[in-house]
Amino acid sequence: MVLMSKLVATLATLTVAVTAAPASPPQVALTLAPPAPPHLVIPPNFPRSPLLEPILSQLDPDHASQLTHHLTRYSDLRTLRLSDDPLALDLVLPEGAKALLRLQQTRFIDTTDDDWDLLAHNHNDDEPPSSYPDTVTHNATSLAPLFNHIHLGEMHHFLANLTSFFNRYYRSQYGLQSQQFLQAHIEHLHATLNPRANLTIVPFAHSTWSQRTLIVRWTSPSVPPSAPAVLISAHQDSTNRLPFLRAPGADDDGSGTTALVATLAALLRGGWRPRTHPVEVHLFSAEEGGLLGSGEVARAYRREGRKVRAMYHMDVVGFVRRSTTPSIGLITDGVSRALTAYLSRLIPHVSALPVVETECGYACSDHGSFTRVGYPSACLSEGRFEDSNPHMHTTQDTMDLAEFSLEHVREFVKVAIGYLVELAGWDEGDELGVRVV
Ligand SMILES: [Zn+2]
Repeated sequence: MVLMSKLVATLATLTVAVTAAPASPPQVALTLAPPAPPHLVIPPNFPRSPLLEPILSQLDPDHASQLTHHLTRYSDLRTLRLSDDPLALDLVLPEGAKALLRLQQTRFIDTTDDDWDLLAHNHNDDEPPSSYPDTVTHNATSLAPLFNHIHLGEMHHFLANLTSFFNRYYRSQYGLQSQQFLQAHIEHLHATLNPRANLTIVPFAHSTWSQRTLIVRWTSPSVPPSAPAVLISAHQDSTNRLPFLRAPGADDDGSGTTALVATLAALLRGGWRPRTHPVEVHLFSAEEGGLLGSGEVARAYRREGRKVRAMYHMDVVGFVRRSTTPSIGLITDGVSRALTAYLSRLIPHVSALPVVETECGYACSDHGSFTRVGYPSACLSEGRFEDSNPHMHTTQDTMDLAEFSLEHVREFVKVAIGYLVELAGWDEGDELGVRVV
């Protein structure tokens, strides 16, 4: 709209100038030309990749017009970082320009609200390697009372509902509605599977958008109040490369979200409760906005002096590329080495799938926000990074793809349960312990 009125004003000025100067030949072609259709104005400092122009030239006119509208509507300035090179300059771009970055597949972290005092180099309290056990106590057999409560049918039903929202874009109404659905679903699981579990859902309100991060905190009488929390996480939002389009996000990151919900359901049904450390399940908002939601949560935790023993993050865990061996991808960059080494010791005890170590690059996912402020984090993904789902951020990221597998997601649920039981303990309970079979 702003672009349009500016153009009309320019034409009006020209018309007046022509009328007031009859001696010069009238510029009929210019004054009579109809207003041009809205055209995309790319910020002059935008870091164009060679991919951008061909993509823009192939956009259908309706999408191009909506993209123009998106850029105009989201004009608030944000500071973005495109690389972890300490010499790289931050860029100041309008919020809407993130859509252009996504179109040309440039990754970024939104660092607008960074707080220098909170960044990792000011904290040397990353968990020492000794904080994670050398040995693993449980295995698939001893965890069977919990694993038996992982139900593929329920996972399918949940993910079908989650992906039925037009998108889960964090700045849209759909993003707010999908968050409300997710919250109601977890409340329902708690109320119906084990209402006596000491579990609270705390929606974390964000600064400039309405979709909230959901934090589920689970403790028990035997957990010391000051014990560091054991975190497990995924991101609930989804986006298309063009953020106003449909984005089912079945894999990215509906799969991680489904894994978390299935983990909660199995633990509730199995009557599990933590013994030594509280557990927190984080369902982040706005990962697709440059790790925005997790960034705000991680900074708030650091500011409040909260202690975190470990964070286990899952992003895209449901796609198995044709003619590859199903495997669990363990991300090796931007993570805590001690925690990642611990997970590689743990996984063979709880899943039959091989572990493959893989890098996922800068601004890969929300674990990066916790790493940036010095909390120990790890990230798991569906396999080797180069084999990951090519349909991410498109309308084809659905659970109907032949290569999408809830059986694969189930393996990550097993690892999640193993991780929580090993690091937060398993209070078998007394006469108050409830087991729902
Ligand atoms: Zn993702």
